[in-house]
Amino acid sequence: MSELRIVRPASLAELELAPGSVLLAGGTEVVPQLRDRLLEADTLVDIAALVPKGISGTRIGAGTTLAELEGSTEIPAALREAVRLAASPQLRNMGTVGGNLLQSTRCWYWRLAYPCHLHGGDRCHAREGEHREHAIFANELCASAHPSDLAAALLALGATVQTNRRQLQLGELYRVPTKASRSLTALEPGEVLLELDVPPAEASVYLKAMDRKRWAFPLVGVAAARRGSQTRVALAGVAPVPWLLEGALDDATPLPGTAYKVEIAAALVKRALATIAAA
Ligand SMILES: Cc1cc2nc3c(=O)[nH]c(=O)nc-3n(C[C@H](O)[C@H](O)[C@H](O)COP(=O)(O)OP(=O)(O)OC[C@H]3O[C@@H](n4cnc5c(N)ncnc54)[C@H](O)[C@@H]3O)c2cc1C
Ligand code: SF4
Repeated sequence: MSELRIVRPASLAELELAPGSVLLAGGTEVVPQLRDRLLEADTLVDIAALVPKGISGTRIGAGTTLAELEGSTEIPAALREAVRLAASPQLRNMGTVGGNLLQSTRCWYWRLAYPCHLHGGDRCHAREGEHREHAIFANELCASAHPSDLAAALLALGATVQTNRRQLQLGELYRVPTKASRSLTALEPGEVLLELDVPPAEASVYLKAMDRKRWAFPLVGVAAARRGSQTRVALAGVAPVPWLLEGALDDATPLPGTAYKVEIAAALVKRALATIAAA
């Protein structure tokens, strides 16, 4: 086995991602994936010193840890609650916002390296097999369920993302995989998330259904945010990407084992809308 190098570029201008290089922030995703051979790398590019950290007005550095966010009174309630309910205190101390938004699917077939569509193969093993934690929307090719609580909250809040190359709406960071492109994000090689801009909301909320009361990924997460006469609702755990609810939940296409998620989503959406209407 070749030796794994860690490099720390002095500036973003010096950042060149050669094949075999992987960006490293808090490492809570990268390190387990290297251990499990889901990620092949000869060089880890530590970007901790290059990516802004901290909260300033509506701006949040992508290098900010979840623990820092959790303790902030400056950010909208939906985002603070999404962070509070994510992972464990230890993981929130290490994990960054950028890493959270770019975490990989928790689909157990993917994590066990089954040769499924997302690994470049020609089947979705979850559709045919065990899939109670999987998607109810956009699940034709890949039925994985996006695991980020933060992404759903940020999508409802209408956040934008600044990279070292461009500005994107949060929703544009993700894409539903197709046979032509199996990636779940629109980031180019060498593109680094730098900062988020999260406009204030008049009222916002995040509700999460999970298998345990703590330290579990969302079966369904629902974020709602109200600004003037506009209310946006976004969901975690229901599609391969964070899902902006534009149509009805009746448009869902659940698998036999995920139909229960439609009922949970309906109950949480109703409760979230009532909460922000009363706020
Ligand atoms: C057991 C467990 C439970 C968890 N539970 C939850 C949960 O309930 N809800 C939830 O939302 N999350 C959950 N998480 C995910 C956790 O929040 C993430 O692992 C963490 O936030 C990742 O951040 P990191 O800095 O460690 O990322 P890293 O491991 O360093 O990186 C993750 C990925 O992002 C890329 N990356 C990191 N930063 C950047 C950047 N600035 N620009 C471009 N690419 C970048 C890396 O190359 C890598 O591909 C859980 C994780 C674990 C292990
Ligand atoms: S849901 Fe997606 S990641 Fe899981 S087996 Fe199917 S194609 Fe692979």
